[in-house]
Amino acid sequence: MTEFDTKLVHGTTQKDNNTGAVNVPVYNSSTYIYPSVDAKVKYDYARSGNPTRNYLEQQVAELENGYRGFAFSSGSAAIHAVLAIFKPGDHLIIGKEIYGGTFRIINEFFKRWNLEFTAVDTQNPEEIEEAIKSNTKAIYFESFTNPLLHVTSVKKTAEVAKKHHLLTIVDNTFLSPYLQRPLDLGADIVIHSATKYLSGHSDVIAGMAVAKDAKIAERIYFNQNAIGSTLSPEDSNLVRRGIQTLAVRMDRHLSNAQKIVEFLQGRSEIAKIYYPGIAGSKDHEIAQAEADGFGGIVSFELKDGLDSTKFVEGTKLIQLAVSLGAVESLIELPYKMTHAELSPEEQLKAGITHQLVRLSVGIEDPKDLIADLANSLNQL
Ligand SMILES: *Cc1c(COP(=O)(O)O)cnc(C)c1O
Repeated sequence: MTEFDTKLVHGTTQKDNNTGAVNVPVYNSSTYIYPSVDAKVKYDYARSGNPTRNYLEQQVAELENGYRGFAFSSGSAAIHAVLAIFKPGDHLIIGKEIYGGTFRIINEFFKRWNLEFTAVDTQNPEEIEEAIKSNTKAIYFESFTNPLLHVTSVKKTAEVAKKHHLLTIVDNTFLSPYLQRPLDLGADIVIHSATKYLSGHSDVIAGMAVAKDAKIAERIYFNQNAIGSTLSPEDSNLVRRGIQTLAVRMDRHLSNAQKIVEFLQGRSEIAKIYYPGIAGSKDHEIAQAEADGFGGIVSFELKDGLDSTKFVEGTKLIQLAVSLGAVESLIELPYKMTHAELSPEEQLKAGITHQLVRLSVGIEDPKDLIADLANSLNQL
């Protein structure tokens, strides 16, 4: 069993129960029996290990070609546990367009613990190199950014990192291992908000981290177990099940996104489209070289003078909501919703205008999605 899509469905063969069940059971047990006081047991307490969670962790580690995976109660908890492997006085370089919640945990939590950070444009390896200091320990970024879909080369970034003995940490939420495997491109740690594409059905909050080697894995495991932000057995099972259909969902997300981009390109109300699948940009070039597809998120700007609020409130099938990566299409206005925490100046600097719309393209029939968008555009 070697092909990726087969691995998605079958995971690791599970033969530890007597029932013949084709799926790993949900082990709702917080503690486990010791045969004797001195017994060496595989499981003793479920924060430290739970077979359902461990199954998911191994499943994702295999998909990312990593050494070991870890499942957390949210993507944010995964990010916290990974950044907590560093110590006060360490310096990290971060992508300047990382997820808002990551920025918050860095700025309002880790800075209080004396971790230092410098935000750079990771698309430019020279900018990364210039930011390196004697106490720099890692580079942290998202290879496709939110909401403007700027693409960073994992390969080039990891090369710079290796030269300076830094760890490369990639948040792979937007692509999933179906479209990119950052560890294969030189990264050391991969993080996911499994809330998004991995689970894919907007029914669970979950996070994953995958380490490339045993040494890094040991440090993340210590944090997972000591801080205790583990994923429950039920939620582990939901993510496990979501992963089984990742390939078929993603294929549909990709083809729908492409069709919607083509539709938007033909509409006079649209000023600009942000999608790495559109040829002619650096983002497209890097994505083509390092990813197996351009993702399911399409952002675009309405022309000045058009009412962006009315537009996103006007779609009927496509629901007005934050989050992304699920079977249903979701639309939102970043400046009012996902990126509302940024000041107006920061928003402007980041390119998040009042006309910018982010669409997480679902797996519905593309004809219905396009009709819904057209209908709302026609009302403007
Ligand atoms: C949603 C998201 C997170 C945070 O994950 P939660 O599961 O919401 O805690 C981190 N990174 C990216 C890119 C995300 O989209």
